[in-house]
Amino acid sequence: MFEHPLPAMIKPLKLARQEGKLQGHMPLEQLTLLAADCVSNEGTVEADLTLKMEGPRAEIHGSASATVKLVCQRCLDAADVPLKVQIALGFVQTEEQAKELPSSLEPFLLEEEEIPLASLLEQELILALPIVAYHSDCEPFPYQGEEDQAPSSVEEKPNPFAVLEQLKGKVKKTDN
Ligand SMILES: [Zn+2]
Repeated sequence: MFEHPLPAMIKPLKLARQEGKLQGHMPLEQLTLLAADCVSNEGTVEADLTLKMEGPRAEIHGSASATVKLVCQRCLDAADVPLKVQIALGFVQTEEQAKELPSSLEPFLLEEEEIPLASLLEQELILALPIVAYHSDCEPFPYQGEEDQAPSSVEEKPNPFAVLEQLKGKVKKTDN
C-alpha cells in the first residue's frame, strides 16, 4: 500500500523526459468509466509506474491494481473482485505512430499535453474486468437431476479478444 495520493493530472512527455515515477493511490470514484461498470465506486486504485524516453518516444511501464465490487451472478449480491494489470504503453499522437510501436507496447493516444491519470489507468483496468463475477465461496444454484451434466458454458474462460472488442465499443460510446 502506497502512502501518497497519485496526481490527478500528468504531463506524460515531461515526466518521461525526467524519468518520472508515479507511485500512489487514487480513489476509484475518479475512474468514472470503470466505476460505472461496478456496483459501487468505493475503493482505491494503486499504481506503480515509471515513465521514460525510448528514442523519440515516451513510454510508461508498471502495474496498477484495484478491488472493485461487481454483481455475483449466483446470489446477485456484490462480490469483491481484485483487478491487477501490467502496463506497457507508448504515447502516440497519430495513428501512424501507433502502427510503428513495437508489439510489446500498447498505444495511448495523447491528444493533450496534460491528461487525467485516471483515464490512462481505467483504460487498462476496464480490460481486466471479468465478463461474469462470482463469490469464490458462492454455491451455484442446484440443478435438478442434472448433476452429471457438463459445467455450464458461462464458466468457460471468455475469449480475451472478444472481451477487448466489446469493451472498446463501450469506452467509445461513453467517451462523448
Ligand atoms: Zn454470490
